Amino acid sequence: MGTLSTPAQRKIVLVTGASSGIGEATARHLAAAGHHVVLGARRVERLSGLVKELTEAGHSAEYAELDVTAPDSVRSFAEAALTRHGRVDVLVNNAGVMPLSPMAALHVEEWNQMIDVNLRGVLHGIAAVLPSMRERRSGHIINIASTAAHRVDATAAVYCATKYAVRALSEGLRQENTDVRVTVVSPGFTRSELSDRGGDPQAQGASRAATEAIGLPASAIAEAIGYAIAQPAGVDVNEIVVRPTVQN
Ligand code: NDP
Repeated sequence: MGTLSTPAQRKIVLVTGASSGIGEATARHLAAAGHHVVLGARRVERLSGLVKELTEAGHSAEYAELDVTAPDSVRSFAEAALTRHGRVDVLVNNAGVMPLSPMAALHVEEWNQMIDVNLRGVLHGIAAVLPSMRERRSGHIINIASTAAHRVDATAAVYCATKYAVRALSEGLRQENTDVRVTVVSPGFTRSELSDRGGDPQAQGASRAATEAIGLPASAIAEAIGYAIAQPAGVDVNEIVVRPTVQN
C-alpha cells in the first residue's frame, strides 16, 4: 500500500500489544499506509527494534512501555500521545493472552489474568481515549475479539467469556457514541505467539498444532483493521470476522 497523500488521512493510531503477532503486523501495515503509530507492550526491547525498523524505512512510529492491566499505565500511554500529537484518532485494543485449560484444572490465576488483560485491558483503553474522542466528536476504537467471541470450545471457557464480553461492551459503546466509530475484529486461527505461554500443555499444544496447520498470517488481520480505518468518518464497520477458509 502506498503512503497516504493528504495529511487529513494520516491518523494517530495507538496499538496495544504491538510487540508480536497481530499487533506487530498491524503496526507494520498502518505505518506503511502512512499513519503515525504509537506502539505499546511490556517487552519494550521488541518495540524499540520495530520502531527503529519502521523509522529507518521512512515511516512514522514511536513506542512506550505499557501494561494494559494497570489503568495508570494505559492512561499515561494515551495522554502522552494526546500531548504530543493533539489527538488520538484510533485506538486498537489488541493486547491479549490465552492460557487454555479445562475448568476443572482450576487455573484461577490464569482465569484472572485473562480477565485482567483481555477484558479490563480493553476497558482501560476505552477509558483512556473516550473523553478526548467525545470532546472532538471524532475517533475510532477497534477491539480485537475472536471467533472465540462467537463460539465456545472446551479448554477455552474463560478465554471465550472474555471475548464474548469484549463484543458485548463494544456494542454498548457503539450505541452510546454516535460520533465515535467502534469496530470489533474477530480473528480465527492466526500465527502469533498466543499459544506459547501458560495454560495446560495439552490444550496449548493442540492450539499450536491447529495454528501451525491452518493459521492465517497476522498480516491478514492487519489488513482487516486497515480496511475499517480507511472508511470515511460516517462509515462504521462494526464487526469483521476473518478466519482461515478451512476453519470449522
Ligand atoms: P501474541 O501473543 O503474539 O501477542 C499478544 C500481545 O499482547 C503481545 O504483544 C503482548 O506483549 C501483549 N500483551 C500481553 N499482556 C499484556 C499486558 N498486560 N499489557 C500490554 N500488552 C500485553 O498473540 P496475538 O497477536 O495472536 O494476539 C493479539 C490479539 O488477537 C489478542 O487479543 C488475541 O486474543 C487475539 N486473537 C488471536 C488469535 C490467534 O489465533 N492468534 C485468534 C483470535 C483472537 P508483551 O508480552 O510484550 O506485553
